[in-house]
Amino acid sequence: MEKKKEYYDVVIIGGGPAGMAAATYCGRARLKTMLIEKALLGGLATYTSEIENYPGFPEPIGGTDLMKYFDKQCRRFNVDIKLTEVKGIRMECDYRVVSTFRVDYYAKAVVIATGGKPRLTGAKNEDKFLFDKGISFCATCDAAYYTDKTVLIVGSGDAAIEEGMFLTKFAKKVYVSVIHDEGIMDANKVAQEKALINKKMEFIWNTVVDSYEGEERLNKIVLKNLKTGELLPFDVDGCFLFIGYVPNTEHFKGLIDMTSKGYITTNEEMETNVEGVFAAGDVRDKFLRQVATAVGDAATAGVMAEKYVEEVNYLQEEILGAKGLVALYIYNAIEALDRECLTKVEQINRDMNNAFKLCRMDIYKSDKMACRFECDKTPCLVLVNKGEVIHREYDLAQAKIEIEKALKNA
Ligand SMILES: Cc1cc2nc3c(=O)[nH]c(=O)nc-3n(C[C@H](O)[C@H](O)[C@H](O)COP(=O)(O)OP(=O)(O)OC[C@H]3O[C@@H](n4cnc5c(N)ncnc54)[C@H](O)[C@@H]3O)c2cc1C
Repeated sequence: MEKKKEYYDVVIIGGGPAGMAAATYCGRARLKTMLIEKALLGGLATYTSEIENYPGFPEPIGGTDLMKYFDKQCRRFNVDIKLTEVKGIRMECDYRVVSTFRVDYYAKAVVIATGGKPRLTGAKNEDKFLFDKGISFCATCDAAYYTDKTVLIVGSGDAAIEEGMFLTKFAKKVYVSVIHDEGIMDANKVAQEKALINKKMEFIWNTVVDSYEGEERLNKIVLKNLKTGELLPFDVDGCFLFIGYVPNTEHFKGLIDMTSKGYITTNEEMETNVEGVFAAGDVRDKFLRQVATAVGDAATAGVMAEKYVEEVNYLQEEILGAKGLVALYIYNAIEALDRECLTKVEQINRDMNNAFKLCRMDIYKSDKMACRFECDKTPCLVLVNKGEVIHREYDLAQAKIEIEKALKNA
């Protein structure tokens, strides 16, 4: 069965905070925008009961509630949304093709905002008890189920400690398995201090999970003391893993550059190694993974995607798609000589009664388009006939002669 093809200016992969914020920027810039999410909109932010540090909300707000605002905002700008998994990206002529099971989405620009997924411990029997069998990753989703029960948390970062404290509102006992020596945690100091005085929380230092035990459901976790090798069984009703994340980048391997841990590398403009493909949010190699930083990345990626699409359209419609001879003047607007030569080329065009189409390309902010024309210094006059570069002229004194020659042969 041949796949359906759909055409968009921008396709955004991932419907978490980064994806929805990028969609808002692209939609608002009147780009034809598609956002593809494989699960439910909102991403990892919906895993948390309270977000206290997202600017603009003086009172704590539930992650799901906050994400509903993101969703509403991007829909206001006519963003199309599809719930399906993206299986890969490939390049085809001038398009980046985002492939799903039934449809290939042809996009001029793509934003990857696929975030990450929780890391597993790799201990014995883990697969047997994942999700509804006792091993959870989302206190918000599952805390109520553990009312008056005993749970064990693995990890000591912000998510582990903050979600652990949230669990103490429901569970009667919350054990915390910490890999570090006594008193050492990875969480912020405020969370650490609150957790250490919480009577329902008990820290088991220097431990990792050795095995998960139970019949249908998890009912015991055996921890291993890393210093003594001692095995420590704990009767539990459930377990929460907060030991970090693995980026969702498996579908982009081979095309997009990544770190050894699979995070996508970008520059400050969120550009990846592939032209027209941007990355934003937790999926990116960066220092801090939060809603606020995801949104910051997304704003940049959205604006860059808009700029890229605009440039591609200009290139295709005005330069490569033009019928007659195009003289593309590539210059740097802050250089006096470049500005002076521009006036000369404009004069030539007037003297020749607009016999050719004059296009101007200022490379002050970005020289990417100039690179397409293999122009390595400015000012440069590139003559294009029916989409083909026929001459590059750096000596502007020769401009008129070369244009006349080109017009004769055109
Ligand atoms: C328990 C917990 C508590 C947290 N607390 C806070 C907090 O208090 N404050 C704060 O600022 N941050 C908090 N965070 C972090 C915050 O949630 C993340 O930094 C943020 O969600 C990252 O946004 P993102 O859009 O980059 O990625 P994600 O939120 O991970 O979204 C990525 C989306 O992409 C989708 N996706 C992945 N692969 C594909 C594919 N192939 N095709 C289609 N869709 C795909 C996923 O399903 C997901 O919806 C918390 C995180 C957790 C887990």
